[in-house]
Amino acid sequence: MKVQKKDIRALSKQELQDFFVAQGEKSFRGTQVYEWLWSKAAHNFAEMTNLSKTTRRMLEDNFVINHVRVDKMQRSKDGTIKNAVKLHDGLTVESVLIPTYSRTTACVSSQVGCSLDCKFCATARLKRMRNLNPDEIYDQVVAIDQESRLYNNIPLSNIVFMGMGEPLMNYKNVLKAIDKITSSEGLGMSPRRITVSTSGVPKMIKKLADDEVKFNLALSLHSAIDEVRSRIMPFNTTFPLADVKEALLYWHQKTKKRVTYEYIIWKDINDKKEDINALVKFCKLIPCKVNIIEYNPIDDGMFQQADERVTNAYQNALERNHITVTVRKSRGKDIDAACGQLANKSS
Ligand code: SAH
Repeated sequence: MKVQKKDIRALSKQELQDFFVAQGEKSFRGTQVYEWLWSKAAHNFAEMTNLSKTTRRMLEDNFVINHVRVDKMQRSKDGTIKNAVKLHDGLTVESVLIPTYSRTTACVSSQVGCSLDCKFCATARLKRMRNLNPDEIYDQVVAIDQESRLYNNIPLSNIVFMGMGEPLMNYKNVLKAIDKITSSEGLGMSPRRITVSTSGVPKMIKKLADDEVKFNLALSLHSAIDEVRSRIMPFNTTFPLADVKEALLYWHQKTKKRVTYEYIIWKDINDKKEDINALVKFCKLIPCKVNIIEYNPIDDGMFQQADERVTNAYQNALERNHITVTVRKSRGKDIDAACGQLANKSS
């Protein structure tokens, strides 16, 4: 019977060292392999040239390296790149590279599909198939970093968890991936350049605070009025704004960090004075920043971007109340790479 080989990247450095010792070799071989797997992103054992042929064969006999594969890459007119990433079991997720003049951002997925049901998001139409493993999240970042160096001559500067899935519903793996991304044995990136975006899972926001994470938090708010939010994000009935607020207060008290609110303005949904007033009030809870994002239509007719006049009214009201607000233009729309458009159409 054929023995099922283990994914070597599921092993910690210590476990790799112990494996070599058990094979009668020196533990530093484990360190060398770990570096190949993580800092050098090796795709096969043959690349590990500082190991003997016998050692490489022994690894080959025991393990596989389950790397993801960029199945299809699309480049937008504006320089945005979208990768369809094939996982070892044949499922696909998408990740995006967004270059601007000041930064190069990777937008990565945390789950295959999503279990939440935001009415305006294309990913919500795919049911949640599974959580991504830490190495599958890490690999998306590495692939984007390599493309950024290749096409734009600059390394990746920022990461946002705003691809497919709800990162806080794959908490452990997302945090493990971030550990790897920020560790000197991984990409050595500063956590201050990483943002995890959540639809608002109160218990998990509190857990982030308890775990004293150093990365940034964004909340997809879209309405500060429960009835409105529940209509467009039905899980809001399970996690109402009062609970989200309590969790945000806790987050701020523990981390002293501010939070970013993502906000789309739709015609006849959240374009009234009371919507603006509710947002301003919500923003007084803890130090924050509001990102007004453009709606990317997902062919359903229910949602329509509000007039610019309303965006200006929001912006003015927030600024009058000394709340930082930015209005973001979408990128990569022509290749369905913009926020909420990731739905594996490319696969
Ligand atoms: N589940 C997480 C992360 C993925 S969504 C979250 O909700 O934050 C990333 C961002 O894209 C969220 O702010 C989400 O509200 C937004 N988004 C979803 N669909 C969109 C659409 N059609 N147009 C613009 N933004 C969208």
